[in-house]
Amino acid sequence: MKPTPNNIKVRFAPSPTGKLHVGNVRTALVNWLFATKEGGEFILRIDDTDLDRSTKAYEDGIKRDLSWLGMNWGQTFNQSDRFGIYDDAANHLRKSGLLYACYETSEELDRQRKILRAQGKPPIYDRTGLALTPEEKATLEAEGRTPHWRFKLSGKIASWDDIVRGQQSIDTSSLSDPVLIRGDGSYLYTLPSVVDDIDARITHIIRGEDHVTNSGAQIEIFEALGGQVPNFAHTPLLVGRDGKGLSKRLGSLSMDQLRDQGLEPMAICSLLGKIGTSDPVEARRTLAQLVEEFSFSKIGRAPARFDEAELDLINARLLHETPYADVKDRLKEMGVSGGEEFWLLVRANLNKIGDAAGWSTVVYAPMAGQIAAKDASFCSQAADILSGPLDNNTWSAWTNALKAETGRKGKSLFLPLRMALTGRARGPEMDKILPLLGAERVQGRLHGKTI
Ligand code: GLU
Repeated sequence: MKPTPNNIKVRFAPSPTGKLHVGNVRTALVNWLFATKEGGEFILRIDDTDLDRSTKAYEDGIKRDLSWLGMNWGQTFNQSDRFGIYDDAANHLRKSGLLYACYETSEELDRQRKILRAQGKPPIYDRTGLALTPEEKATLEAEGRTPHWRFKLSGKIASWDDIVRGQQSIDTSSLSDPVLIRGDGSYLYTLPSVVDDIDARITHIIRGEDHVTNSGAQIEIFEALGGQVPNFAHTPLLVGRDGKGLSKRLGSLSMDQLRDQGLEPMAICSLLGKIGTSDPVEARRTLAQLVEEFSFSKIGRAPARFDEAELDLINARLLHETPYADVKDRLKEMGVSGGEEFWLLVRANLNKIGDAAGWSTVVYAPMAGQIAAKDASFCSQAADILSGPLDNNTWSAWTNALKAETGRKGKSLFLPLRMALTGRARGPEMDKILPLLGAERVQGRLHGKTI
């Protein structure tokens, strides 16, 4: 049953400074599954405040990848179109005395932190900027310094009931006041994110647990801007098979790499939708199934293990049960001959859909099988006693007759025939391949011809 629409609204907010990788796809997926299950809205926010590192090509790639995975979005916008709105919010904070100018260089800040650490103290910013008089600021600016701007934390405890992590408390007195605007006037992600979440009426912020501390500060910014604080769900990060953090290679494993490897979008969604949950990690054919099974209560606190080998396995399992209608067009694009009968015959032997091309050659294209010298006369004999037309019963009648005539049985009976006809030691059931090959091809290949 389709849930009735409600006001649930989530956002996926990638920065277009790189390709969509497995970690962000998991975050996107949890957001998408939750919104879809609840009949809410999933919006795509492009966090491109960093104009130097953001590119249109990455943005287009992210959109293409999400569409390929099947995650559609309702609304989308770019933060780079909204600088005026962030400026208004920043001015509001300045007026409230919550955004203050600081003039330290990054080297000076580094030095301060080192000194504090050496004294055994936490490296928290000392709020020098907050105490500056207008004259002192003027002097610093006359020296050529431009200010960066920090948000003044309350020093109280920010707390929330996290949907995944339970009750959370961040002692803001243990944090440095976060920089919201850099010296060059550009925005860090912290303030624009809150402004947009308020404007878009986001009800649930769902993101990785590396943002937990940010959330403490952002809750205070929500409050300072008079916004409604959304619900939070921080999901555990992905780790590798060994339980350690994702290697650089795995962490940056991008959707276009996986697509190039020939992986099915639903294999990726099945794995990323299930790891780190109490459900078994199994192939699912549709996102609708994942939606049906989604529940925050299934997401544990332990890190989610991402294993590429498991992805391959799920991909193969998925293909093994994929109906012809779902792959018909792709097979055609790949130049694979053969219709439903062919697909149902070979699908159980595929790891990637591209493997179907090899089987299409075996069945429909001229090819020479493999005949070992010791099996040559046996194969000729087999060709001679075969008569067409071939159907699904031919194989057993034929091999029974061969068995009686030659005394061969088991592997020494079947394997030379399979090798001669398909060139491979393993593959689909021979009784079904035989009629697809037809008598002429079967006899030709048994005689060692390329046919
Ligand atoms: N652009 C931020 C990121 O990719 C968004 C974080 C958030 O969801 O608030 O980390």
